[in-house]
Amino acid sequence: MTFASDIEIARAADMKPIGEIAAKLGIPEDALEQFGKSKAKIGADFVAGLKNRPNGKLVLVTAISPTPAGEGKTTTTVGLGDGLNRIGKRAAICLREPSLGPCFGVKGGAAGGGYAQVVPMEDINLHFTGDFHAITAAHNLLSAMIDNHIHWGNGLALDPRRVTWRRVMDMNDRALREIVCALGGVANGFPREGGFDITVASEVMAILCLATDLADLRRRLGNIVVGYTREKQPVTARDLKADGAMTVLLKDAIKPNLVQTLENNPAFIHGGPFANIAHGCNSVMATQTALKLADYVVTEAGFGADLGAEKFFDIKCRKAGLKPDAAVIVATVRALKMHGGVGRDALTQENVAAVTKGLENLGRHLRNVGQFGVPAVVAINRFVTDTDAEVEAIGRYCADYGVVAVPCTHWADGSKGTETLARKVVEIAEAGTAQFRLLYDDSMPLWEKVRTIARTIYGADDVIGDKVVRNHFRQYEDMGYGRLPVCMAKTQYSFSTDPNLKGAPTGHVVPVREVRLAAGAEFLVVVCGEIMTMPGLPRHPSAEIIEMDADGRIQGLF
Ligand code: ADP
Ligand code: MG
Repeated sequence: MTFASDIEIARAADMKPIGEIAAKLGIPEDALEQFGKSKAKIGADFVAGLKNRPNGKLVLVTAISPTPAGEGKTTTTVGLGDGLNRIGKRAAICLREPSLGPCFGVKGGAAGGGYAQVVPMEDINLHFTGDFHAITAAHNLLSAMIDNHIHWGNGLALDPRRVTWRRVMDMNDRALREIVCALGGVANGFPREGGFDITVASEVMAILCLATDLADLRRRLGNIVVGYTREKQPVTARDLKADGAMTVLLKDAIKPNLVQTLENNPAFIHGGPFANIAHGCNSVMATQTALKLADYVVTEAGFGADLGAEKFFDIKCRKAGLKPDAAVIVATVRALKMHGGVGRDALTQENVAAVTKGLENLGRHLRNVGQFGVPAVVAINRFVTDTDAEVEAIGRYCADYGVVAVPCTHWADGSKGTETLARKVVEIAEAGTAQFRLLYDDSMPLWEKVRTIARTIYGADDVIGDKVVRNHFRQYEDMGYGRLPVCMAKTQYSFSTDPNLKGAPTGHVVPVREVRLAAGAEFLVVVCGEIMTMPGLPRHPSAEIIEMDADGRIQGLF
C-alpha cells in the first residue's frame, strides 16, 4: 500500500477564503486582518469585545508517554475538531505554531498528518504570520539593551557575569549555544559570555502565550529578570526601560491567527512555547477567543500527560481561569508495545502480550488526569499496522477503569474516523461531571509543589536536590516568588527522569538539578535531567532535500 504524503494531501485541499471560515464563528469580515487568502489575525477590538460572552466547552488532547515519533496529539486534535463539526457542533481547534528549527532538522510536521491537517501547511510550517520573528526581535531588543546599558556606564550595576538573559533565533544551531560576545575593543562594549536559545525557548514566547491582553503583556515583560548585581539584587527589563518597546514589537504578534483544517473548519494557531522549559500550550488569547466563539474548543498540550496535561492544568488553566470539561488521552498500539518492552525495530509486528503489559502506562495517565477532576476518554490513534486483537486489548483494559477507548482513523479517513470519539466527548462534556481542581495551591512551598507532582503524577517516592539547589528554592521564596507555579522540565519518555524506564515505574526518586526563574512568565522552571534550549541539526538535516521545483512548489517539506 502506498499513501499520499502529508504535503500532497495538504496541497490538494479545497481551501475556502478565510472570511468564510471566520463567518462560521460569527467573526465579521472587518475584524479580520488578512495575510493573503487563507490566513488572518483577529483584530484586538473584536477580541476585547467578547469578554462577557459565555465560554464553550474546553477539551484537552493529551497522550500516553510517547515514542520519539510522536503518538498523534496534533493529528487527533485536528481530527476531533473536524469530527465535532461533522456531528453538528460548532467547534474550533487551538494549536501551537511550529518552529523553523525542527522543520529543517528532522522530517515531520507540526500541523497534523494524513487527512487530519491544518492548511495552508507550508505557510504554517514556515514564516506564517511572522509572530516568531516578532518574538525573536523583541527578545533580542532586550539583549541589545542589556549590553548597551553596560557599555554606557552600567548605572544599574548589572554584574556582566550574572546576566541570565541570552539571545534567541528560530533555528537549530548548536554553534551558538555558548559564545563570547562584545569582542573587538572599546567601541564594542565589555566582552562577556553569552549564548543563543531557540525562539520557542524564549521567556518572551511563554509570556506572549500566557498574557491576557496587551497591558498584561507589558506588565509581564517588565517583570523579566535579566540578571543580578554583585549583591545579587535582580535587575528587570523594566529597570532597563525595555518593556514599552518590546510591547510595541509584539502588538500584532499577540493577535490570534485563524486558518482552517482540510475540512474547512476553524483553527486558531497561535504561539509555540517549548514543552520543556515552558508550559507547551498555545496562547491564552487564542484559547479564550475560541471559547467565546465556539461551542467546543479542542486544544493540545505538548508531550505526554505527565508533563503536558499537568502544566496545562497547573499553569495555563490556573493563570487564565480555564476549566476543562473533558480530556482525550491519545494512545497508540506502537507506544504501548514499547512500554511493554518491545524494541523500536519490532513495533509493527502483532504482539498483544506486549500491548497488554504496556497498558500500565496508560493506566497511570488515566489516574493522573482523574486527579484533576477532568473526565477522560481514550482515543486509540490507529495505524495501518495495528491488528484488531491489539486494539481490543486496549478497550478491555480501559473498561476496567470505567473509561471508554475509541479506535479512531482520522489520519486515514478524516472526520469520518472520529465520529464516535466526537459523540463520546460531547456526552462527557454535556454530562457536566468535570470538577476541575488544581494539584496544589499557590501557597504551598515551592519544594512541596515539586514533591507533590513527583509523588502523585510521576509515582516517585521523593524528590532530591543538593544544598545549592535547595537554597535556590529558598532564595526565590525570599524574593517573593514563592506563590508561582512550577514548570517541570524532564524527559517525556518516562514517568521517571530516566527515558529508558518504560511503563509505570514506582519507587524512583526525582533529582532536581536546577531551578530557573521566569518572573515574566510567572513560573519557576524546575530542571530534572538534561534540558535542551538550543537543538542541533542531525547529520543529514531535512534542509538538504527541501527545494522549490520547476513549477514553483515546495518539495521535501514532509
Ligand atoms: P504529536 O502531536 O503527539 O507529537 P503528531 O500528531 O504531530 O503527534 O503526529 C506525529 C507524526 O505521526 C506526524 O508526522 C503524523 O503525520 C504521524 N501520524 C499521526 N497519526 C498517524 C497514524 N494514525 N498513522 C500514520 N501516521 C500518523
Ligand atoms: Mg503535537
